[in-house]
Amino acid sequence: MNLKRSLICILLLSALTLAQHPAPHKKTAKAAPVTRPKADPVAAIHQSALIVDTHADTPQRFLDENFDLGQNTPVTEGHIDLDKIKQGNLGAEFFSIWVEPEFKGHYAQRAMDLIDSVYQQAARHPDKITMAFSADDIARAHDQQKFAALMGIEGGHAIENDMRLLRDFYRVGVRYMTLTWSNTNEWADSSGDIQDPNIKHHNGMTDFGKDVVREMNRMGMIVDISHVSDATFYQALLVSQAPVIASHSSSRELTNQPRNMTDDMLRAMTNNGGVVMVNFYSAFIDENYRKASSDPEKIKQRDAEVAAYKKAHPQADGSPVTYDETAAIEKKWAAQFPRPPLKSLIDHIDHVAKIAGIDHVGLGSDFDGVTSLPEGIDSVVDLPKITQALYQRGYTREQILKILGGNFMRVMREVEATAKRLQDERKESDALSFEDIELMVGNRVNSVQLADRIKQHGVNFDLTPERRTQLKAEKVDESALDAMVKARKK
Ligand SMILES: [Zn+2]
Repeated sequence: MNLKRSLICILLLSALTLAQHPAPHKKTAKAAPVTRPKADPVAAIHQSALIVDTHADTPQRFLDENFDLGQNTPVTEGHIDLDKIKQGNLGAEFFSIWVEPEFKGHYAQRAMDLIDSVYQQAARHPDKITMAFSADDIARAHDQQKFAALMGIEGGHAIENDMRLLRDFYRVGVRYMTLTWSNTNEWADSSGDIQDPNIKHHNGMTDFGKDVVREMNRMGMIVDISHVSDATFYQALLVSQAPVIASHSSSRELTNQPRNMTDDMLRAMTNNGGVVMVNFYSAFIDENYRKASSDPEKIKQRDAEVAAYKKAHPQADGSPVTYDETAAIEKKWAAQFPRPPLKSLIDHIDHVAKIAGIDHVGLGSDFDGVTSLPEGIDSVVDLPKITQALYQRGYTREQILKILGGNFMRVMREVEATAKRLQDERKESDALSFEDIELMVGNRVNSVQLADRIKQHGVNFDLTPERRTQLKAEKVDESALDAMVKARKK
């Protein structure tokens, strides 16, 4: 036991003694001078922090289980509710709008239903929850001692390859989007199926995918690179003019999972100015757990059980069986492997802090979306244990506050500032974007009129072979295409 540790123990003990024997309220006439024990420094740090967690899958529970945040649930059923949020001093949560790929043909509808479910929670508990859409909103909610609810889309397929839907999602309050989930979509590769030869990959991102990143920058929606393939990651960083986040990713150096980040990626995040929010899931933070739980035979057995359940419980309206319904099977299966120690999670936070830097690390729990968490972390109630562990490793108050939320707040403000700058620049230059061209073509502007407008305003994009093919398919003729090449500005 080192000196700092024993000091903490003494302080904790004295705090406990104090709690058990509260000082009498009445002042005695001749009170002996009391030496007040100092307050527990770890608790003080934790209570003073604005804590932001960037990934929880609770909306599925709102929508599919009719779960209300006001219900106090056992930790075996859920990681987050209002009571637990208060105990853990969580200030803001990004609720994940995770669109299960099985909802094919209805991605946007599923996303909108999940978004509505978050608003419903805020409407039911207006004294405790407030919807937040900016860093200022989060700070204001914190000042008012309210919990800030935010939303991030998980899986770029939710926009159904439509830039207009992306903008609509921003308008209804979505403030980040993972470019992919575990599935490669039509414009960005995922780490989840990158080895699968049956999936059509893009060597990273298509031109449209890069435009998605640009449009997110322009609006002020945070680009989230959790889940993407390595090539998508590096391309997103090249294209993005704003810092990006990994909303829930851990270190691949420590736990060899393809959706974890290599040290080289962590260093790239430093240059980008972004932040890596460490995922708590046992299989992403502990090599022993990962190996045990990736045994192909064991996985086969679990998948068979889930498939059998789905077959036995067909939905009346034909919609897919949701994750929530099969979660019990998955949790029971995961429980056969021993939970990793809390140390494994702290090692990941420590590693990201060392490689990417103390300004580039945060918390992205994945609560309500994972079947196993490290020992001691049963729900959001246990967040103070992370503060304590970091303190014991020698992290200062200032550094801990950065990890718990300060770093994310800085990145969110930078993303907002970049959006403002891009929107101001756009006002000054009237050069047409590829989006503008697409809109005109969609509105049946003919090639002659198109070429005229291009000559008049100029364009701000390169006519890549992919774009050329796309426009040709939409019957744009060569003269308009030539005009685009000639009218390229800057
Ligand atoms: Zn995820």
